Amino acid sequence: MHTPPHTMPFDTTQVLIGGRWQAPASGQTLPLMNPSDGTELARIARGTAADIDAAVRAAQVALEGEGGTEGERAGAWGRLTAAERGRLLLKMSALVLEQADELARLEALDVGKPLKQGRADAVALARYLEFYGGAADKVHGQTIPFANGYTALTLREPHGVTAHIVPWNYPMQIIGRSVGAALAMGNACVLKPAEEACLTALAFARIGQAAGLPDGALNVVPGLGEEAGAALSAHRDVRHISFTGSVAVGTLIQTAAAKNAIPVTLELGGKSPQIVFADADLDTALPFLVNAGIQNAGQTCSAASRILVQRPVFDEVVRRMAERYRALRMAPALDDGDIGPVISQRQREIVQGYLDLVRDSGLHVAAQAPLPPGLPAGGYWVPPTLVADVAPGHRLEQEEIFGPVQALIPFEDEREALRIANGTPYGLVAGVWTRDGSRALRVARKLQCGQVFVNNYGAGGGIELPFGGVKHSGHGREKGFEALYGFSVLKTVAIKHD
Ligand code: NAD
Repeated sequence: MHTPPHTMPFDTTQVLIGGRWQAPASGQTLPLMNPSDGTELARIARGTAADIDAAVRAAQVALEGEGGTEGERAGAWGRLTAAERGRLLLKMSALVLEQADELARLEALDVGKPLKQGRADAVALARYLEFYGGAADKVHGQTIPFANGYTALTLREPHGVTAHIVPWNYPMQIIGRSVGAALAMGNACVLKPAEEACLTALAFARIGQAAGLPDGALNVVPGLGEEAGAALSAHRDVRHISFTGSVAVGTLIQTAAAKNAIPVTLELGGKSPQIVFADADLDTALPFLVNAGIQNAGQTCSAASRILVQRPVFDEVVRRMAERYRALRMAPALDDGDIGPVISQRQREIVQGYLDLVRDSGLHVAAQAPLPPGLPAGGYWVPPTLVADVAPGHRLEQEEIFGPVQALIPFEDEREALRIANGTPYGLVAGVWTRDGSRALRVARKLQCGQVFVNNYGAGGGIELPFGGVKHSGHGREKGFEALYGFSVLKTVAIKHD
């Protein structure tokens, strides 16, 4: 299979600061690899602390104006009304849809995901912008009954400059939910995309400019996590951090935020279970059980990496999932198969380490999708692997793998299912499959996680649905209307008038 060189629609080596595309202060670039064949796809800016500082300053100017003081909001962005901000977001949404094919191509190439998933991500980005554009002027304060002679009310105000540090697995979706909601509430944003995949972050910023977003309302500084990311999370003039990524880096971010006493939203990892009771409609459940594990080559925070199955239907579920695994078509991103490569050689080695663990532990591999002949040799390929009869507590059942590996775990009754489901350090999403409505509600309430899907499963889906974790999966909520509260701060005003 021969992959022709891929053209980039713009200069990928620049940062966007205050409306100007420019070379990073370091003068250096970093390679961006194509996961489907291991070749260099493009080069990106190596942003550092100097660029971050300039970006934060530009965001302040967008809010306050040149020489303005914090809170004045006399800048080109700060003085817009909520309705005007909303209209800009709606315009961006329309442009994203117009350019969906190109955005899908970039995201697929960059992340290695099938083209159809790239397209779904572009449509999701447009929908986030539509949702938050429509919501911008609908976040209201309250009046509060207080002492005689007073009127007391609350105002929802932007934090100011907000930092957005995003990972490589779903750049468009995560930018949509995080930057989209922050802009709707009138914050000025500094976005640090991941060094492994950031083409659509750059394309998104260009769409913002084309829609008429004032200079500095959105700044983008690609670069290494320990350089640009660390500088952004420690910057003294940042007023809120939204971080999506690993638990290890999340704790660094929260520590940095604590030093400046600012709020932080942490969207971290997961080991999400799907619980299949014996009375479940398996015909409906089966495609969800598999897709939620292999989507984006398993590199989804809410991937259903644990399938808990009640004993009477365990063998049937294993058999039917295995059939689906054997039919999976692996292909380079633009060939649009069912599953692409993982993001990097490093990620491939991590997942391979878990496959070695499966072998060394003598676990039963129920199915492994074959690597088709002719896949580009340099690509970061991992065979999707279904492992049956994994004991609760085994590393395969406890640790986030972030690859196309699912563990099947049998259980006897509801109590045991809950104990296993809640028995990891994570708590992001869970699925429950049963025809018994009372049980569905009971189990949903007892699961320790941020989202529960009953008789369906949306790995990362649902723009309107508040999303986030408990325990090591993080805290704070993004998506849905709830995010708008996180991206704003409440001010109480008590007026004495008599
Ligand atoms: P990561 O934590 O390594 O990187 C995420 C981002 O943080 C990148 O932009 C990176 O450059 C930056 N970063 C790295 N080191 C930094 C530092 N010292 N200071 C500041 N920033 C730094 O995570 P990853 O490998 O890119 O992503 C995978 C993880 O993200 C998984 O654990 C996955 O579950 C999680 N994730 C969670 C969600 C969610 O919504 N809960 C969504 C997607 C991914």
